[in-house]
Amino acid sequence: MPERAFAQLRFYEELNDFLPEALRKRDIEVPIDRSRSVKDAIESLGVPHPEVDLILVDGKSVGFEHLLRGGERVSVYPMFERLDISPLNRLRPRPLRDPRFIADVHLGKLARHLRMAGFDVLWANDWDDDFIVARSAGERRTILTRDKGMLRRSDVERGYFVRATESEAQLGEVLSALQLEARVEPFTRCRECNSLLEDVAKAEVEERLPPKVRGFYERFKRCPGCRRIYWEGTHFARMRGVMQRSLRRSSGATPSDG
Ligand SMILES: [Zn+2]
Repeated sequence: MPERAFAQLRFYEELNDFLPEALRKRDIEVPIDRSRSVKDAIESLGVPHPEVDLILVDGKSVGFEHLLRGGERVSVYPMFERLDISPLNRLRPRPLRDPRFIADVHLGKLARHLRMAGFDVLWANDWDDDFIVARSAGERRTILTRDKGMLRRSDVERGYFVRATESEAQLGEVLSALQLEARVEPFTRCRECNSLLEDVAKAEVEERLPPKVRGFYERFKRCPGCRRIYWEGTHFARMRGVMQRSLRRSSGATPSDG
């Protein structure tokens, strides 16, 4: 009987979140019987493929279907790793040029926060996984989920596993991990129904405003979808605070970081 073949896999940065403690940040021997796709080897360790953006086999970038035969060294990098890998092949076009999302049923608060930050996020509390996956594929939306199992499905192409559990921390995490800070546009989208807001003259909405708001604010927007009226009140101020904190955290040691 021939000797059993192995490949050495190593995962970088936040891909280690998916591995048991003992396997993090070290070489892992994965048995290769006959031949095995690199995608299959990666997923056998519990790392969902949508989180992976770059695979190097013996220093050369390969696609998911690349076959391992044993003896290779495999380096696996996360989707949103900030290394400059532009000369190498990413596994898919640079993600999130037009960031659009679909959030799983447990992330309703995060969906609302992201809408407040101006991002297009679909969410409903009664969508099942099949629906979310199909809609993600059809509309090229990135799935946001706390369910690693969903990201392991072979029909999922774009997905991000949200690590934080508290909704404001989740917002900061997503803005930072997906490098969305520069695209934040507060006060542009309805937090309840995801429609783009329209400017509306104060005179047109005045009678629907609480007296305090009528006295304090001059700038208003209206949702064409659900007719809600928005003004830059305390909720927006709080959201700006959350986003600024997240910006500061993720900008690291840039010169502008005071
Ligand atoms: Zn609305």
